[in-house]
Amino acid sequence: MNEKFIRDKLPTAIRHHIELLERMRRDFVANVSHELRTPLTVIRGYVEILKDTPEFNGTKYETMFKQMFQHGVRMSNLIDDLLLLSHLESHELEVDPGSEVHITQLLQNLIEEAKSISGLNKHKIKLMTDKNLNLMGIEDELKSLFSNLIINAVKYTPPNGTIKICWGLQDKQPVFSVADTGIGIAKKHIPRITERFYRVDKARSRGSGGTGLGLAIVKHVLLRHEGELKIQSKLNEGSTFSCIFPATRMINGTIK
Ligand code: ADP
Repeated sequence: MNEKFIRDKLPTAIRHHIELLERMRRDFVANVSHELRTPLTVIRGYVEILKDTPEFNGTKYETMFKQMFQHGVRMSNLIDDLLLLSHLESHELEVDPGSEVHITQLLQNLIEEAKSISGLNKHKIKLMTDKNLNLMGIEDELKSLFSNLIINAVKYTPPNGTIKICWGLQDKQPVFSVADTGIGIAKKHIPRITERFYRVDKARSRGSGGTGLGLAIVKHVLLRHEGELKIQSKLNEGSTFSCIFPATRMINGTIK
């Protein structure tokens, strides 16, 4: 039974009350995130100058300032993700047709980013794409969706593993998928994995620098694009995350 189905069965007054509380929660998170952003930008700016100051080279202060800077970047990423998620949630019920997005071009740029994140881990990152196939949507949101799935594949795949990114038609529907040969996810976690801050292994995920909001963002971007997320995974073998979009959103699709 999905959340919407259960909610539709509730008496109207209770439903309205839940919606009011949800709106208050969303506004609170968005306001706090927004208020934290400015002071954090100032602190980050000063710490960046301090970490690069020649007088501190090779001293314990250099290490301290570098760590402070890294944590500052993490906090900024968390604030950006919280703001994006609040925005997506508050527009959840509005399906926006958007405009034509050149998916292959977008993916090629994201792959360069993924290769630099992989760095010495030397993942084999492959892209198989239907260059003629584009999608009607909101480019920034789709970029965030693809980027979260690709970066997760890099984060949760041991060195030298393979990451296959595909974009094309499957059963006449546009599908984006990322398959990795990584650590995999046990079956019991899959139903909860798109919840905010849900992590299979807290220590490992924090170490990988994620915000814990990536898959929640993926879920909400898909809702706004009438898409569906499928997760197939086997522990210690790898995972495949597939995003299935409605055929009505595709442009120039060549049916194979
Ligand atoms: P995080 O910032 O922790 O990566 P996400 O919302 O992106 O947050 O992912 C939630 C959790 O799902 C992760 O902490 C991790 O345990 C698991 N996960 C996500 N993607 C993968 C993957 N490709 N392989 C294995 N586990 C994954």
